[in-house]
Amino acid sequence: MTATVDLLPDTVQEIVDRAGRPDFDRWADQVARCGHCSRPVRLRGRVEHHTTSGRRVAYSTDGEPDRVLLIRCGNRRAAVCPSCSWEYQGDMWQLLYAGAAGGRKGVPETIRAHPLVFATLTAPGFGPVHTTRADRSGPARCRPTHGKPRLCPHGRPTWCTAIHSEEDARLGQPICPDCYDYSGHVAFNWHAPELWRRFTIALRRALARQTGLTAAEFARSCRVSFVKVAEFQRRGVVHFHALIRLDGPGEDYQSPQISVDAAGLAEGIRQAAAHVRLTVGMLDGPGLVLRFGTQLDIQTVNGGPAGELTPEHAARYIAKYATKSAEGFGLGERRITPEALTLLDVPDHVRRLVDAAWQLGEDPAYEGLRRWVHMLGFRGHFASKSRRYSTTLGAIRRERRTYRQRQAAEQARELVDEDTTLVISHWEFAGVGYLTGGDAALALSAAARARERRQAARDAA
Ligand SMILES: [Zn+2]
Ligand SMILES: [Zn+2]
Ligand SMILES: [Zn+2]
Repeated sequence: MTATVDLLPDTVQEIVDRAGRPDFDRWADQVARCGHCSRPVRLRGRVEHHTTSGRRVAYSTDGEPDRVLLIRCGNRRAAVCPSCSWEYQGDMWQLLYAGAAGGRKGVPETIRAHPLVFATLTAPGFGPVHTTRADRSGPARCRPTHGKPRLCPHGRPTWCTAIHSEEDARLGQPICPDCYDYSGHVAFNWHAPELWRRFTIALRRALARQTGLTAAEFARSCRVSFVKVAEFQRRGVVHFHALIRLDGPGEDYQSPQISVDAAGLAEGIRQAAAHVRLTVGMLDGPGLVLRFGTQLDIQTVNGGPAGELTPEHAARYIAKYATKSAEGFGLGERRITPEALTLLDVPDHVRRLVDAAWQLGEDPAYEGLRRWVHMLGFRGHFASKSRRYSTTLGAIRRERRTYRQRQAAEQARELVDEDTTLVISHWEFAGVGYLTGGDAALALSAAARARERRQAARDAA
């Protein structure tokens, strides 16, 4: 895949200037070393080796192009930095796959015998929205009329006979915005992490009931491990994708001491998701009862009929969701106010969600909500896991860093010919991002080429 980008004349000139410099190769090398990050941190500094025979500068950015060293930004979001997001996705895949297939990252291969399912828990409806559907004959109408066509109290149709394409801007937008329950929608996003927590408790209870154990007996025989990611649906509400696995109670990935297979685990998830409730306060109104949507998708990975979903596919699926987020709503990454929103080009639906979140944030029961308006009220982590699912992202990053440092140390050893007694580094922050639009364009195209190569390698693996 080759992207064609229209470049401004200034940018073209900047590219020509950069490519014509004698240190261009070194610059390109630095861009590659920071993983083709799209907005790297620029550092200026030096590393000194202090030995008995004196002080020597072992490395200095003075010898680098523009006298800076580029360090990757590490952002998870593809819209902010495709390369760092890609690396994050790869790390997530490692973590997910280790817990599903074992034989790596400290997880034994026997983990494949534990019941493991892939579950998607959705949000309920807050009013009809435009949607894509399919029936046996292919793409179907959005919301056909049933019986006599009826107008809503605002005089709008309650039906939609369009067949929307995937690109249709109306998708996810309410059929009637005035009928739509905006504050209920925001309340769901705000309380979703607590609803998930209650779901995990309900799941343990359902499994204990299934096996005829008390809660205490169940806790001594089985542990529910999971990793989950939150994803925003088009209508702006979060739902959860999770890998849920049954283990023994110990620290070393023993088998669960109960006789429940993947089908039993799936049944427990169904019961827990259907029954979990959270009653929350609302501004000048009765309490609202929050629950998960009736749409529930569960697929077996391990410990059930083979072939529903492989560990590879389950891991890839969730890792992909982990890099998606609210960026698609055009609200940016930081706190916003309804006033600031007037400067942004966002759909009416998003604007109404922001207004609803701002109003709800007035209620002391929703203290802090105004800080999460740009996330449409969702304050949870986009990816989280129970302690014993598998390794941690931190451990995977440390492993990679150690590997890179070992490579760097081997290169440095050629420079150091005496016993080093002390290494002192001096670093200062010189800025964020590339110096010119031309540099950024060069880095972007190199990044796309590198990702295509690595994607081909990842697909072939
Ligand atoms: Zn980056
Ligand atoms: Zn429609
Ligand atoms: Zn209406």
